[in-house]
Amino acid sequence: MPGLYLHIPFCKQACHYCNFHFSTTLRQKGAMVEALLKELELQQGYLGGEEIQSIYFGGGTPSLLDTAELEQIFSKIYQTHRVAPDAEITLEANPDDLSPEKLRDLKNYSPINRLSIGIQSFADADLRWMNRAHTSGHARSCLDDAIAKGFHDLTIDLIYGSPTTPDEVWAENLRLAFEYEIPHLSCYCLTVEDGTALGTFVRRGHQPAVDEDRAARQFEMLMISTAEKGYQHYEISNFALRGRYARHNTNYWRAESYLGLGPSSHSFDGISRQWNVANNAQYIKQISEGKVPFEREVLTQDQRYNEYVMTSLRTMWGVDMGMIRTWGSNFEQHFKTQAQPFLETGVLVQTEQTFYLSRAGKLLADRVAMELFV
Ligand code: SF4
Repeated sequence: MPGLYLHIPFCKQACHYCNFHFSTTLRQKGAMVEALLKELELQQGYLGGEEIQSIYFGGGTPSLLDTAELEQIFSKIYQTHRVAPDAEITLEANPDDLSPEKLRDLKNYSPINRLSIGIQSFADADLRWMNRAHTSGHARSCLDDAIAKGFHDLTIDLIYGSPTTPDEVWAENLRLAFEYEIPHLSCYCLTVEDGTALGTFVRRGHQPAVDEDRAARQFEMLMISTAEKGYQHYEISNFALRGRYARHNTNYWRAESYLGLGPSSHSFDGISRQWNVANNAQYIKQISEGKVPFEREVLTQDQRYNEYVMTSLRTMWGVDMGMIRTWGSNFEQHFKTQAQPFLETGVLVQTEQTFYLSRAGKLLADRVAMELFV
């Protein structure tokens, strides 16, 4: 089920915690769209002509693209690739971009059928602390307007664990998400990354590091309240109502092939991974010369095993021994030996051929994966 990812590397302002590739100078937006059109042609054969099941505009802030730019991109996608008639087509959007007019145009003039909205919080104190460009008013009005315009396939991002998010605020954020009956939630624990403004503030002692106890407590609150509301916790950070899993992201977790376009985007063809240069000017220049600026790595058996364990452990489908065995009995033996202490302490649960994280184990997902790696 191949997917297409387009990276739109522009943002109005830099959120303090963010380490994605983006520029706050929009000067090159037109040239970037031209380059994406060209890359769609250059990479036409990457997915071997297979029908595309999902298209995802990520970033950056893809909602900064105007209607004409989106039309150009879709026209080129449909010229160069076969797209399934029922493909999931997602646009990441920030609340301050989603005016009623913008939503109307997206609905009427594009095939976008799913919005992924970067709400992060409904509380102004949180939003200011994160340096988000929107307010709590924007967060609520864009949901009202999106639903009114007929966008029912919605997902929102929320962040927990920040110093400005006491438990009451986190509970209120979740209550509002439930009130809107958002069918899909992506909830991330705040992380402090090097190279971000927040990383600098913490290093200099101007901001506290993430309070691990608060983060763990809020993750528990999240698991309990989403379960009560009927959401399936199908990936460590993702929750879906009525089986409305994100098809595009589920493809990543199931190691399906995908083509990434734009600076810093990654692609995977089942054997190798490649990633485009994370520099807007270099990307535009090289694409204009007919070259895709990427580096490529053929995955070893060990890397494929580690990636499979890492991603599948995070999902409700768990680690399948049948899959592990395809790499050889030594991988199976290694997995079982490493998994045994976690089975004994209830961190992992085994049902026939599959190993899952227990609810308590979900708090330790990364640490467990590290122990299971070769
Ligand atoms: S979080 Fe989103 S909007 Fe904020 S800087 Fe990062 S990519 Fe841009």
